[in-house]
Order: sequence, then structure tokens, then C-alpha cells
Amino acid sequence: MAITLPSLPFAQDALEPVISAKTLEFHHGKHHNAYVTNLNNLIQGTELADKNLEEIILAVAKDASKAGVFNNAAQVWNHTFYWNCIKPSGGGIPTGKIAERINQDFGSFDKFVEEFKAAGATQFGSGWAWLIEEGGKLKIVKTANADTPLAHGQKALLTVDVWEHAYYLDFQNRRPDYLTEFIAKLVNWDFVNQNLG
Ligand code: MN
Repeated sequence: MAITLPSLPFAQDALEPVISAKTLEFHHGKHHNAYVTNLNNLIQGTELADKNLEEIILAVAKDASKAGVFNNAAQVWNHTFYWNCIKPSGGGIPTGKIAERINQDFGSFDKFVEEFKAAGATQFGSGWAWLIEEGGKLKIVKTANADTPLAHGQKALLTVDVWEHAYYLDFQNRRPDYLTEFIAKLVNWDFVNQNLG
């Protein structure tokens, strides 16, 4: 059961001008695709070959000798999750259950935005900022490189990729501007509500 690269849930140019078709051509077509290829090469002929992506991540998360498998598997999962977290004409103030939970656990939507953007801006080097649910509370966390809330028993609700490959062609060094646009114009709150269950 080989792991496959899922199609983007929108056209390659659908997020312009925030995220260009060129960025998605490389980010999805080259980076995400390379993690899929690397993972399949690493698990081929091993006991992991018959497992699904989540099972692979959990099986190797605490095994330092399998760091290569973990990094590629987690990056496949993180990227698929990220594509689902964004959509054309998304962003802005959420509705539904997530809106209530954000107000309850952060005090206000503005406070949530401030904390989420701070997490993304202060992740040193490559990584991810996340809205997660843990112990019945919404929290913001950041992870380095390929690390993923899935490996820490946390339920991921929303993520933003802050690896430079996610924004450099469109924003160069202005990561905070990418985060501002991400919240204002891209977040797929329907998906976040769905994750809340
Ligand atoms: Mn990425």
C-alpha cells in the first residue's frame, strides 16, 4: 500500500495573489511530492509498508533510528493537512463551534490571532504553528521541522507552514506578512470546525 500524493483541493492559481501558482507548483509538486517518494522508498519491504500514514507516524515517532521515516511521513501528513486548512477567499472571522471555542479559550478572536501569529513568527527556522485541542482546551503550539501534534497525542485543528518554501517566492523574508494574509484571506474555517468534531 504505497502512500500517494493527494491532489490540491483547489486549482494551482486559486490562492493568488496571496500564494502564487509558482509557490504551489514547487511546494506541492516538488516538496510535498518528494516527501511521498522518500517515504515510499524508506518503507518499501519493511513492516511499515502495510501501514497507513498515521500508523507509520505513531510507530516511529519515539524511535530515533527511524528519524528519516518519521520526518518524511510527518511532512506528508502535515502538508496534506495544511492544504485542507486553506482555500480561495477564506480567512476572516470564523463562525460555528470554533468561533465559540476560540472566544472561550483565548478570550477573543483578536487574542487568538495575536497568539497564532506570534507562534508562527517566533518558530526559529523551519516548522509549523498549530491550533490544537488537548485535554478539552484549545491551545497554540509550534513544532520544529517535521514534528507534528499527532505524535504528541494532540488533535490538530489548524496549521500554517512556516518553512521558507511556503512563502519565500511571494513574501521573501516577510514571514509576519504571510501570517497576516493567511489569517485574513486563506483559512478554511469549515475544515477547522470539522476537525473539532
Ligand atoms: Mn511545506
